[in-house]
Amino acid sequence: MGRPLTDALDRPLGTLRVSVTDRCNLRCSYCMPEEHYNWLPRGELLTFEELGRLARLFTDLGVSRLRLTGGEPLLRRNLAELIARLRTVAPSADLALTTNGVMLSEQCAALRDAGLQRVTISLDTLRPDRFLELTRRPDLPAVLDSIAAARRAGFSLKLNTVVMRGFNDDELIDLVDFAAAVPAELRFIEYMDVGGATRWSADRVVSRSEILARLAARFGPIEPLPARGAAPAERFRLTDGTVIGIIASTTTPFCRDCDRARLTADGTLFTCLYAGSGVDLRGPLRGGASDAELIDRISAVWRNRSDRGAELRSTARDRGVFIPVEALRRDPRLEMHTRGG
Ligand code: SF4
Repeated sequence: MGRPLTDALDRPLGTLRVSVTDRCNLRCSYCMPEEHYNWLPRGELLTFEELGRLARLFTDLGVSRLRLTGGEPLLRRNLAELIARLRTVAPSADLALTTNGVMLSEQCAALRDAGLQRVTISLDTLRPDRFLELTRRPDLPAVLDSIAAARRAGFSLKLNTVVMRGFNDDELIDLVDFAAAVPAELRFIEYMDVGGATRWSADRVVSRSEILARLAARFGPIEPLPARGAAPAERFRLTDGTVIGIIASTTTPFCRDCDRARLTADGTLFTCLYAGSGVDLRGPLRGGASDAELIDRISAVWRNRSDRGAELRSTARDRGVFIPVEALRRDPRLEMHTRGG
């Protein structure tokens, strides 16, 4: 294997986040607050065979972590088949899934048997009334069932909580206690002003330092754990040994170590969550391009990559909503739920 493929800031291509659908069965207000969305045409979604081929090429280029995302990935039928295919084409890759957990419990065994290793479930509140308010769906019980099922299935399990001031920032301690009891590693995520977050405002962001201060007030001194490399979460240990993570891209961006490429369900390659445009891989893929031609295309995109989206946003004056609704309507690929978060 030659020198790893690196970008213009010398960051290796290490992780591929694959959105397998732009659709979702929840409407979380920090991601999909609008009533109506323009969806990617179904006929343009990559088949499992096409996804498998692209995953093989990305792993040939050095990708060692594959994460399946959405929208809600479990809405894509027979997802276990795709996981089995990815396991075959990328036997040594770390295979993970990010899900809202609503449909996970009944699919745990099949996903596990197909070769899935790690699962991250979104859990923003433990209160049914707030879950309904946030997602416009009454599915908290299903999510809690799925967390228990994922634990029983033996997955390496993480829980993600997007913290929003005035909504769930009074549940930090309860969520830490809940996760410790599962057990699962809880990560607090700062509210991000990404494409689709059309209700975002700076005053609703609870910063990394404020989260740490609140946890320290309850749990005592908090120990930072060794550096995370390219992983988005900074990790900390509480006095009782519980480990939590914080993903602080709004106030403490980590673009300098970002090794993540993103593939939308219709085969558009994005080099950053904040990128204004991507590169189409579906066209050449369906147009008969060889592996070598696709590898050249992907390599050229990555080599020219200099994205630092969150870093640039963090210095923006009068920071408000990043992309207006009209622009999102015109190009649904600008939406976070189309890029897989
Ligand atoms: S904003 Fe872009 S460059 Fe920065 S960490 Fe996120 S995806 Fe990577």
